[in-house]
Amino acid sequence: MIYLKTDDEIELLREANAIVAGTLAEIAKVVRPGVTTKQLDTLADQYIRDNGAVPTFKGFPNPYGSPFPASICTSVNDVIVHGVPTDEPLKDGDIVSVDCGTYIDGFNGDSCYTFCVGEVSSEVQALLRVTKEALYKGIEQAVAGRRLGDIGYAVQSHAESSGYGVVREFVGHGIGREMHEDPMVPNYGKPGNGKVLKNGMCIAIEPMITMGSPSLYLCDDRWTVRTRDGQPAAHFEHSLAIHRGGADILSSFAEIEKIESQSR
Ligand code: MG
Ligand code: MG
Repeated sequence: MIYLKTDDEIELLREANAIVAGTLAEIAKVVRPGVTTKQLDTLADQYIRDNGAVPTFKGFPNPYGSPFPASICTSVNDVIVHGVPTDEPLKDGDIVSVDCGTYIDGFNGDSCYTFCVGEVSSEVQALLRVTKEALYKGIEQAVAGRRLGDIGYAVQSHAESSGYGVVREFVGHGIGREMHEDPMVPNYGKPGNGKVLKNGMCIAIEPMITMGSPSLYLCDDRWTVRTRDGQPAAHFEHSLAIHRGGADILSSFAEIEKIESQSR
């Protein structure tokens, strides 16, 4: 069941996503070699609660294991998604995808950004750039009247044209009163296929793109998902509302990108 949102509901989604954007910007300020992902988690949890929201990921149920123990997912290098924060310091040349969800006034925010830690190789920087571009290629297709397959095709063809892998086991999703609503939003597809996009549909598009093969495995903690070949993966995500003229992006990377450009 796909719930179409009213303008008022979209404003509540925007409020939740603004707190996600603010959280990721706080991370951008401090992410560097020597910082642990647990420290990032503590910072995120504090920021989310200081802004009157709840971190949706904390205690998120897992049908195969224990609930998620932290307020953000921190996925380092070959971890694709759902990395659990640890006491291990980040190293120069690492990448870390920070996925954040918030809940406030009945609605959810959800966005992810892959950060560079210190000096990252040009190959890995290219993976990050193409993954982010693939997200925006998908968003260009998120217009009322187009179809879900148009989004998936745009993401997939952009990533694969650079020789990268597209993860299929994890996909984007509708977002609203629940963090994960219908429809599923795959990062692959055929143009003109799938459900028709409608005015008021709110979705999260979240390409997970691998440097090598997209083949993956679930670790013993029943959360952490890694590439089988040990090569790095990137993950960028925006939540957005679909309108007739185009997408209204509810989350934002603007603050992060400002901080990144200042630190270069
Ligand atoms: Mg997310
Ligand atoms: Mg999501």
